[in-house]
Amino acid sequence: MNESVTDRKRGCLIGLAVGDALGAAVEFKPPGSFPPVTGYRDGGPHRLDAGQWTDDTSMALALADSIGQAGWDLNDQASRYLSWMQGGAYSVNGICFDVGIATRGALLRFEASQDAYSSGDPSIRASGNGSIMRLAPVPIHYAECFPDRINELATHAEQSSIPTHASPICLSACRYMALVLAGFIYGLERDVVLDPKWEALEQLKSLAPLAPEINEIADGSFRRREPPEIVGSGYVVKSLEASLWAFARSDNFEDAVLDAVNLGDDADTTGAVCGQLAGAYWGESGIPESLRNGLDKPDMLEKALASITG
Ligand code: MG
Ligand code: MG
Repeated sequence: MNESVTDRKRGCLIGLAVGDALGAAVEFKPPGSFPPVTGYRDGGPHRLDAGQWTDDTSMALALADSIGQAGWDLNDQASRYLSWMQGGAYSVNGICFDVGIATRGALLRFEASQDAYSSGDPSIRASGNGSIMRLAPVPIHYAECFPDRINELATHAEQSSIPTHASPICLSACRYMALVLAGFIYGLERDVVLDPKWEALEQLKSLAPLAPEINEIADGSFRRREPPEIVGSGYVVKSLEASLWAFARSDNFEDAVLDAVNLGDDADTTGAVCGQLAGAYWGESGIPESLRNGLDKPDMLEKALASITG
């Protein structure tokens, strides 16, 4: 495998964890109400140590483990999310300390039905960012589907959302974001991939139209807006838009994820989504050493990387 492809695959997952850990200390805080984040700090709603990551990373590790152990099996994915939620598996400290409302409801339905295809809430009002925040293992593992098998990549991305986030907006968000991440892992330039007229995007849309809210983002809404119109909220549309805003305006990984988490609000998740984009684009080698070395439980990330890149 091309060395730089490996670097970008690793960057995508490690970037997710870095953004998550950077945002954890200011989660739920309104923008401007805290001293700007410049590195890991302890505290936040879950009283974590500096460098500890949250549910975003835990669920990504569960998804990676499932792909490595079971191939592609939504029920297996949901079972692993459930063992995180109920037993603290994949958690940085052995406890599940933060689970989103939609995710919790869906996993309890899965526990009762054992059917991950019907456990996620398909209604529009349940369009949270809980499936884009954990997406990285899909474009990493299926990176070689790009550029010739975009349908296969998009289908896996969309399906990965279903156990917990089955709304058409969430499915579209996963399809679009996986394509962008795969384009970066492949080695394409940012301006090519984020161009509304990108050939691969046209192809994705011809397979199935994107939800209008996600289409507007793919059309470049994040370049036409600035805070306070850009918000790091838990709504998947705003979350993806804010992450792309932070990524597109920055010259390096660190600036991108710091701009993302300093939007406050759902800061860890905006950080995790932006971290996937920035990590896939600039690679692990583009993540400052202090941020890589400051992450807690790096062995858990290495195990996940081994199972999806193996
Ligand atoms: Mg979180
Ligand atoms: Mg969050």
